[in-house]
Amino acid sequence: GSTIGILGGGQLGRMTGMAALSMGYTVHVLDPDPQCAAGAIAARVVTAPFDDAAAAADLASSCQVVTLEIEQIGRAALDAVAERTPMRPGPHPVWIIQDRVRQKEWLAAHRFPVGPFRAALEAKDVANAVRSLGACIVKSSHGGYDGRGQAHVEREDDAANAWAAVGARSAVVEQRLELAYEVSVLVARRPGGQMAVYPPARNHHARGVLTWSVLPAPVPAAVGREAAEIALGIAEELDVVGLLAVEMFVTTDDRVLVNELAPRPHNTYHASERACATSQFEQLVRAVCDLPLGAPAPLAAGAIANLLGDLWLAPEPPSAVDALSEPAARLHLYGKREARGGRKMGHLSATGASPDEALRRVWDAYDRFKPASAPPIERMDPSTL
Ligand code: ATP
Ligand code: MG
Ligand code: MG
Repeated sequence: GSTIGILGGGQLGRMTGMAALSMGYTVHVLDPDPQCAAGAIAARVVTAPFDDAAAAADLASSCQVVTLEIEQIGRAALDAVAERTPMRPGPHPVWIIQDRVRQKEWLAAHRFPVGPFRAALEAKDVANAVRSLGACIVKSSHGGYDGRGQAHVEREDDAANAWAAVGARSAVVEQRLELAYEVSVLVARRPGGQMAVYPPARNHHARGVLTWSVLPAPVPAAVGREAAEIALGIAEELDVVGLLAVEMFVTTDDRVLVNELAPRPHNTYHASERACATSQFEQLVRAVCDLPLGAPAPLAAGAIANLLGDLWLAPEPPSAVDALSEPAARLHLYGKREARGGRKMGHLSATGASPDEALRRVWDAYDRFKPASAPPIERMDPSTL
């Protein structure tokens, strides 16, 4: 059988690897942490940092194809893989995406819709951006996720503090937009260019971290079509092979704007494992192995709620038994050894006849799972979804 290499051994690599095992592949992983989440399903873990080109070459030499679950991989390591075996997605799209400034400038240059932004290399650039754009969010170019490496700036006078708080050499300064809601679209693409697009997911964040997500997104058909068209256009123009997730904002004045890209499986499509004919993880395996893509069609509505490490740090433990008393709910744990505040430890999923029903079930499951002292999940009136 063939071996698939995965750069990154977090939960996305683990779930991709589980799909690959089901399809008869062997999985090798590269990760700095020998105890990484994907270690449990990998036949081999190459323990090395993500900029170690020699280690990446070593991984590639034992694999028929290499993919990734994290975009922060050094360019030399990506190139070292690509010299030896197909690297899917390729070094170029990953390199564009892994730097926020480069990514935003690429999107703007290719006429994909983005909100107003400026590139910043020093505090003065932030002050200038705020003067022309109003309240902004400063986002480090590299390495930020779950809202880390970001600072809000309301006034020019706050620019120096925000710049120091982000502590980056390069950052994007984005105008703070009035969001009606957030959606994402996932596209799969084969080496020959064949694509499959999933229905949009509707995503709710709290303090910069995804709290829950539901698909298909209960949004106007025109918004769904526009979002799908944008995502397909980007996947093609960037020449992504594998998966591309496009996070989008729908503003209160009805604009659909690209927030950011991810060339890999995405937290907002975890419900595809339950609710779609083909999960995002199986689809990634199919795409990078140049197999026919599976149907992305939803078979039901599906929703997920993230389980952060905070739930394990409370005095009383969370309760799987109580969560599973909601019979449509399923518990997914990533096997991480240590719970830390804000760390994604797992998620709950639920299906339903409608997005409302799937969401209500996953919200209920969350509130039963959480320790009594933890706050309930942030819900939303379904009629406002
Ligand atoms: P991820 O975990 O998705 O990688 P991230 O750390 O890369 O997150 P972003 O996606 O840039 O961060 O921002 C996180 C969230 O913050 C967004 O989903 C949105 O809720 C809010 N946000 C980000 N940028 C803006 C903006 N320009 N205007 C308004 N809200 C924003
Ligand atoms: Mg991000
Ligand atoms: Mg994001």
